[in-house]
Amino acid sequence: MDRNKNIKQLESKEKVWDIVVIGGGASGLGVALDALSRGLSVALFEKADYAKGTSSRSTKLVHGGVRYLAQGDVMLVFEALKERGRMLKNAPHLTHNQPFIIPIYSWFDRIQYSVGLKLYDWMAGRLRLGKSKFISRKETLTRLPQLKEKGLHGGVVYYDGQFDDARLALSIAQTCNEMGGCMVNYAKVDALKKDANGKINGLVVRDVIGNKDYTLQAKMVVNATGVFADKILKMDQPDAVKSIQPSQGIHLVLDQSFLGGNDALMIPKTSDGRVLFAVPWQGKLVLGTTDTLREKAKLEPEALKSEIDFVLETASAYLTRQPTRADVLSVYAGLRPLAAPKEGSTKTKEISRSHKIILSESNLVTLTGGKWTTFRKMGEDTVEYFAKITGQKLSKSLSAEKHLHGYTKGKAYGHLAGYGSDSVKIEALMKSDKKLKEKLHPDYPYTVAEVVWSVRNEMAIKVEDVLSRRIRILFLDAKAAILMAPKVAVIMEQEFGGGEAWIQQELADFQKVAQKYIL
Ligand SMILES: Cc1cc2nc3c(=O)[nH]c(=O)nc-3n(C[C@H](O)[C@H](O)[C@H](O)COP(=O)(O)OP(=O)(O)OC[C@H]3O[C@@H](n4cnc5c(N)ncnc54)[C@H](O)[C@@H]3O)c2cc1C
Repeated sequence: MDRNKNIKQLESKEKVWDIVVIGGGASGLGVALDALSRGLSVALFEKADYAKGTSSRSTKLVHGGVRYLAQGDVMLVFEALKERGRMLKNAPHLTHNQPFIIPIYSWFDRIQYSVGLKLYDWMAGRLRLGKSKFISRKETLTRLPQLKEKGLHGGVVYYDGQFDDARLALSIAQTCNEMGGCMVNYAKVDALKKDANGKINGLVVRDVIGNKDYTLQAKMVVNATGVFADKILKMDQPDAVKSIQPSQGIHLVLDQSFLGGNDALMIPKTSDGRVLFAVPWQGKLVLGTTDTLREKAKLEPEALKSEIDFVLETASAYLTRQPTRADVLSVYAGLRPLAAPKEGSTKTKEISRSHKIILSESNLVTLTGGKWTTFRKMGEDTVEYFAKITGQKLSKSLSAEKHLHGYTKGKAYGHLAGYGSDSVKIEALMKSDKKLKEKLHPDYPYTVAEVVWSVRNEMAIKVEDVLSRRIRILFLDAKAAILMAPKVAVIMEQEFGGGEAWIQQELADFQKVAQKYIL
């Protein structure tokens, strides 16, 4: 992906884009992918980096949502299971099948979860990832060696997918770019343009790096800005009432030995009525999550002390080695959009986990809610509005079968596996110059070559882009990420200049962000 080349495309005064997407998270990328699969012209703008918002802060599950099944949201689960299967097929390099174990403490739970998960298996149909089954107490303790024994009857094993959320976002952006999409990160939409009838016909976008504004024409504009959706709705209608109330979910990352084995632990009912997951991910253990109302939409939300205590306490009730704050390698928080309370009410209501598309009078299309797993279907449903707005005939969506950038037939292993078909090119880089083989940190496998690769091919602009979303070390071990930053800054500066001042500014920026991931 060449950012400069894409920015050049914005200079044309005559070009009318079919669809311009605001937001480079899962939702916006799903819209771009589907629109391109139908032959439409697409530009997508992300004010920070791809997946900088909620889309890099998920529990990393490609799932139908066992929880939603328990709530009776059957249609949502059907849809998500279908999309789960597609995601695993189209991006095998960034997804895998993950067994989960629910610990069982009573006969009632054994029957309830065994039956519920058989239904979950059946609903996945041909796209089922494995057969759920009850396992004995002995087998449960062999597979989850750190689970407390007291009162345990056994476990129910079921299967869902797991993925690298930020790298999947990047892979979708790369796929879109290859399909002719004009993908630009660090491009903030500041205003919408309307015709004499009050219908949206373009927008103003600012290249945050080049400090330049561009005015574009578009037939349809999609607001896919997650918890920031109200800001765009206010650009459309200055007196628009607040429609979104952010709710925060945090995750703690620990050494994997706190759980042991390769299976994930799923606690279906915590004291606050949520689900808690402990999932092995990239050699560590991810614990989460919470649901805490927050006032403001922020790109870098902070975990609250009460949330951290809750996750540690809940995990400690199940694990023999009780984790403390000192064991936390990284903490990250993400925001989900809830529907804000209506005037006069103090209650908030969760926007159903199924997505919602709102068409405003001016033809602004806002896509909100949903989940990572259903990003493609959310995109498909949103693009259907193109025909409604323009009266033009839409070609059939081909996104369901589209292999994503890096797709490989055979499963790769090792730390370069997530690059898929690009991994051989990174290995070739390392062979071409032995300096590129150098590690960024003695305890981790990441190399100088990956930094060079991410700058040249993956639109990494800032040190944080590399350490947070190209390689995921900020999420895995924040202190190690801080130690790697000076080396990464120097390598990046060698690639695109900027001098010592650039390096110092980048290090200061990274330090500020990284502090939030350390307890
Ligand atoms: C704690 C938590 C755990 C979750 N776990 C899972 C899971 O395991 N599996 C799953 O399927 N789903 C999960 N989800 C849901 C999933 O993460 C979200 O549905 C999804 O990431 C939302 O993507 P989005 O694109 O709508 O929002 P975001 O990812 O927030 O993207 C919006 C983007 O818009 C950009 N933007 C805002 N304003 C502008 C502007 N003016 N100009 C340009 N760009 C702009 C922002 O910078 C941001 O990057 C989880 C959610 C949370 C909160």
